[in-house]
Amino acid sequence: MPDYVIDPPPQPVVPVADDGGFFPVRRIFCVGRNYAEHAREMGHDAEREPPFFFMKPADALVIAGADTPYPPATADLHHEVELVVAIGAEATAIAATEALACVWGYAVGLDLTRRDIQAEAKKLSRPWEMAKGFDASAPIGDLVPAARLGHPRAGRISLSVNGAPRQAGDIADMIWPVPDAIAYLSGLVTLMPGDLIFTGTPAGVGAVTRGDRLEGSVAGVGSVGTTIV
Ligand code: MN
Repeated sequence: MPDYVIDPPPQPVVPVADDGGFFPVRRIFCVGRNYAEHAREMGHDAEREPPFFFMKPADALVIAGADTPYPPATADLHHEVELVVAIGAEATAIAATEALACVWGYAVGLDLTRRDIQAEAKKLSRPWEMAKGFDASAPIGDLVPAARLGHPRAGRISLSVNGAPRQAGDIADMIWPVPDAIAYLSGLVTLMPGDLIFTGTPAGVGAVTRGDRLEGSVAGVGSVGTTIV
């Protein structure tokens, strides 16, 4: 072991459902505007654009139903429920037809967004990191192995706040389905075991505040729940 000059940081993990094991997380990639209805609600026509990606730090994960602290520097914290793909094998410039072979499993996550900071970043042509990659910006439910689940291609994706429906769609409506998103991203970086990909959100995003209970799910995959505190 190297002679670290400070304590090494803890390894971020996601629990594996009904298993007791933990998936170690290396990086978190996110796909932007991957559902047409959501792209339109944000003022874009994403069906004409190639996919684009941004990142969150691995230690932004909130696991096991823990509370999520309301972040600083925003008055417009938005929920985005997403199907999350966990990568289990290295992949460089992989073809879409081969891409599912590097998927270890799936989960449901929340791409929490400081929408006011994002709007300013868009206006000023600045990076999105501080809108997307803040502390505790990535609540995630337990991971289900593809070996158990298979590879879901369709299923209702939804989110409620305090029991009231807010977001709904179907993962079959992704503009760039999972194999295509993996293929495209693996042409930009070498995907490695431990990487997560948040695959975009359906329409209905909106603001939450302290005390709100968020429940997201993807039929046949799982769920994520957290309370904003
Ligand atoms: Mn998102």
